[in-house]
Amino acid sequence: MNWLKSALLMVDVQNDFCPGGSLAVPDGNAVVEPLNILSKRFFDAGALVVVTQDWHPSGHSSFVESGGIWPEHCVQGTEGARLYKELNTDCVHFFLRKGWRTNVDSYSSFFENDKITTTGLEGFLRSGTGIGSVFVGGLATDYCVLYTLLDAVRLGFKAFLLKDAVRGVDYPTGSVEKALKRMQDAGVQLIPSGTLL
Ligand SMILES: [Zn+2]
Repeated sequence: MNWLKSALLMVDVQNDFCPGGSLAVPDGNAVVEPLNILSKRFFDAGALVVVTQDWHPSGHSSFVESGGIWPEHCVQGTEGARLYKELNTDCVHFFLRKGWRTNVDSYSSFFENDKITTTGLEGFLRSGTGIGSVFVGGLATDYCVLYTLLDAVRLGFKAFLLKDAVRGVDYPTGSVEKALKRMQDAGVQLIPSGTLL
């Protein structure tokens, strides 16, 4: 493994996606422990560590009140949008906020859902000596983690799902299983985080 060409992406570990939040992922805060261990491991080895945040304006198009499918969540500047307090961000190099345009949602960390508007992450990863492999954990397996990994493969990165460092919404029921299959079919490798320690 070439650490200098590897990046850890910690996706949307925010209060609203953790227990007690407005769009809580079952057992969502369970991703924190493996991610805290991994982010230090990646940082110490000279790899990049990236955190993403869902960061919506109020009245965002993904909210039920605006005709979307999700309850209001991760509204800019609110407690719900903050990173989960137990997530250690001391080893993070790059904080990325996505979904901040009212009329476009953003599941992927690389592109808005229009598949054209970039978040800037790809350029960041390719700058300097260039990242070749991305390792993804966080929330939720069947949405932001899924689309981030599918785009990573599409962009030519080697893509890894950290199996024990993700949790899913499973809405509609069965979507986690489908997401795992889609990722594997696309060429994402599913690995336990322990193999990196
Ligand atoms: Zn959202």
